[in-house]
Amino acid sequence: MNIIRAEHLGMCFGVKDAIALALETAKHGPLTILGDLVHNETVLTGLRAEGIRIEQKPAAIGTQTVMITAHGASERRKSETRALGLNVLEATCPLVHVAHRSLAKLVREGFHPVIIGKRDHVEVRGMTEDLGEFDVVLGEEDVASLRERPRFGVVSQTTQPVEKVRRLVQLIREQFPQSEVRFVDTVCQPTKQRQNAAIELAKQSDVVVVIGGAHSNNTHELVKTCLRFCPRVHHVQTAADLREEWFHNANTVGITAGTSTPDAGINEVELWFKTIAVPAAAQTNRTKEKHELAFHPA
Ligand code: SF4
Repeated sequence: MNIIRAEHLGMCFGVKDAIALALETAKHGPLTILGDLVHNETVLTGLRAEGIRIEQKPAAIGTQTVMITAHGASERRKSETRALGLNVLEATCPLVHVAHRSLAKLVREGFHPVIIGKRDHVEVRGMTEDLGEFDVVLGEEDVASLRERPRFGVVSQTTQPVEKVRRLVQLIREQFPQSEVRFVDTVCQPTKQRQNAAIELAKQSDVVVVIGGAHSNNTHELVKTCLRFCPRVHHVQTAADLREEWFHNANTVGITAGTSTPDAGINEVELWFKTIAVPAAAQTNRTKEKHELAFHPA
């Protein structure tokens, strides 16, 4: 069995930097992270093992210092947290800041803000909580229900597939030919690279394994992208989720991983294939030996 990795896969610089900041800060004093730093249970377990608390609500913060995750947060949310007398440490990815600034500029220039993404995703909430009026669209049906505005300013969640984003922007333009539609592409470069590499990988593979957290948006998007080019795609969180029967008759297995998946998780999956590939090869050799014996009974 041939195992190939996508050219770009796994943890992005934004997540790596956020984890490094959390670990460094925790060396100097107690730290709470507000929300899941990444949507990956293995990483979160590792952070808890270092004594870092992870809480979902400001009221539950039990330390003086609190970290905002790489997904970012609204100014309103940060002010509310500071008002509790806490030190707010920002691990917001610079590319999420770019999305926030792009959106704020569009609003200042009089465009009605439209965000392409998941309404309840922490990153999207970080973008919308400071806005008065806005729309969040994820599919064609959401675009169909938009109200006409003279000017639409469109950005997207950083982890949305860029092709889908462009298609929805085109739909908005077609639906409102009288409106001015300004689009700022805020899909981040690591997401684009992983999506493009996943397409190439899926085209070459009989089976694709996508490694990532159950709630990781970009991992789900990688699964959907791979399914367009390969019918046998499996999403696993760790090597423990892999099943031998998924790979029957597969010559080439492709591996890719979401932006919150650590390298160790990818290596473990690759190692798992070595352990099943060896017995399979041994099986083939044993079968060959039997044939040879059958033809040479002496
Ligand atoms: S997925 Fe993109 S925006 Fe999000 S942390 Fe990684 S690099 Fe930053």
